[in-house]
Amino acid sequence: MPSPSKPNSIAIVGGGLAGLAAAAAAVEHGFHVELFEQAIHVGGRAGSYRDKEADRLVDLSPHVAMGCCTNLIQFCQATGIEGGFVRHSLLHFFGPDGTQYEFKPSHWLPAPLHLMPALRGLGYLTRRDQRGIGKAMLRLARYRLPDSPDASTMGQWLLVQRQSKNAVRLFWAVVLESALGDSLDHVSVTAAKKVFVDGFMAAKSSYEVLIARLPLGELWQRAATWLSGQGVKIHTKARIASLKFEEGRVAGVEIADGQFHSFDHTVAAVAWKQLPKLLGDALLAAVPEAASAAELESSPVTAVHLWYDQRWTNLPHAAIVGRLSQWLFEGPQGIRHTLAESPGIESAAFASAFHCTVVISASHALLGRGTTTVLAEVLDDLASIWPESRAAKLLHHRVLTQPSAVFSARPGTDAMRPPQGTAVPGLFLAGDWTATGWPATMEGAVRSGNLAIEAVLVACGRPATVLTPDLPKGFLIRWIAR
Ligand SMILES: Cc1cc2nc3c(=O)[nH]c(=O)nc-3n(C[C@H](O)[C@H](O)[C@H](O)COP(=O)(O)OP(=O)(O)OC[C@H]3O[C@@H](n4cnc5c(N)ncnc54)[C@H](O)[C@@H]3O)c2cc1C
Repeated sequence: MPSPSKPNSIAIVGGGLAGLAAAAAAVEHGFHVELFEQAIHVGGRAGSYRDKEADRLVDLSPHVAMGCCTNLIQFCQATGIEGGFVRHSLLHFFGPDGTQYEFKPSHWLPAPLHLMPALRGLGYLTRRDQRGIGKAMLRLARYRLPDSPDASTMGQWLLVQRQSKNAVRLFWAVVLESALGDSLDHVSVTAAKKVFVDGFMAAKSSYEVLIARLPLGELWQRAATWLSGQGVKIHTKARIASLKFEEGRVAGVEIADGQFHSFDHTVAAVAWKQLPKLLGDALLAAVPEAASAAELESSPVTAVHLWYDQRWTNLPHAAIVGRLSQWLFEGPQGIRHTLAESPGIESAAFASAFHCTVVISASHALLGRGTTTVLAEVLDDLASIWPESRAAKLLHHRVLTQPSAVFSARPGTDAMRPPQGTAVPGLFLAGDWTATGWPATMEGAVRSGNLAIEAVLVACGRPATVLTPDLPKGFLIRWIAR
């Protein structure tokens, strides 16, 4: 039995960051909003799972945001969860021989010159490589070729720029594989430019790293609670089986249990691989750009969660250079997070355990490897930097690989990413994979949600800006990239 349409109503399908951001923007603009998420909790790929053995909420993978993520930061401020992130302006790097180096940009030099002392601080790179990297970064800022399937990959471009093997392996790959989630042999120069210009060169604080101090799932749940307080109806465990496509428009959503809800506007905020199932053949034919987005290549990310009986580092994060392990993050310590409905009983061993996670992006090579060998290599990596970790007892571990963690930002990808508005009245798209200009990130997801509501507002005849502006670009980078 169809439920009656509410005036100015929006259904949001998917409770990842794109869906949550769309809900926040829509409710702010006076819409009646209902969000449908198939999982028990909101958060999607940036969410958490309940680890039975550790009896706590654990991130599927720790997520890092940067100072340049203006829309994500604004979303967190609007929903009252910004205190859940800690901002780090000093980044800790460990060179191939295990020596620690600090990445510390200058306070007084203007962007992008503020990066020079930071680059110099990476003492595992030769002076010659550091100079070469600096020059290539400036050329990257001026790179103008349009993204196309036959454009160079970043790996090819770096060869042309005569970057040494060490510069590629110990610098470019370290930054870009974690930022874009795929290898230099796959990613486009356009995507790499976005990372370096927006993430490092544009403004002095853009490189700063934001890491959650609480499990991400807990933070997104708090944002959802805030949204509920604003009147957004959030339905979890509510899989949308299909969108109602009749008389050339999308008129609402059909839940898997058969209930139909009618809405004026529907935002499909699911991942690109989930889109064909949700839209169905008729809608895919009407929105061919959605069908092409579903063909985007994926890239895997692996998170190796480790629980020890004692702490062996006080660092909140570390970039591990030249090894299988890429980043180490300290897990939220001593806080046992429980989403209200399942309090559980904490075991004494885990009450004081040291939880840390090693993240490996672009982990294609791990897909065919057993977890035992991956774990052994990761433990060796850690012990070669922190020998104390060998003395600590490993209480529990979990190796989680998400094969479709992110879409791969290959040459030609931009043309495959559709705008948030579609030619079908009532249908809008959101998700990190839509056209935002950003790689697959929380910022890209939030931007897509904001852009989807901008498109809804245009369709309603009351255009407004929802997107939060970028950090202002320094005069020098504007001049360099002119
Ligand atoms: C392992 C890993 C590490 C990452 N690291 C980082 C990082 O460090 N920094 C960073 O910024 N980004 C990182 N990312 C990327 C980031 O997580 C994503 O870009 C972002 O979370 C995407 O959000 P989204 O809302 O677009 O999509 P999703 O999170 O995929 O949300 C889609 C939602 O739709 C729901 N859904 C699907 N179909 C239906 C249906 N039929 N009915 C109802 N609901 C449905 C899904 O359950 C899901 O919750 C990482 C991703 C992964 C997987």
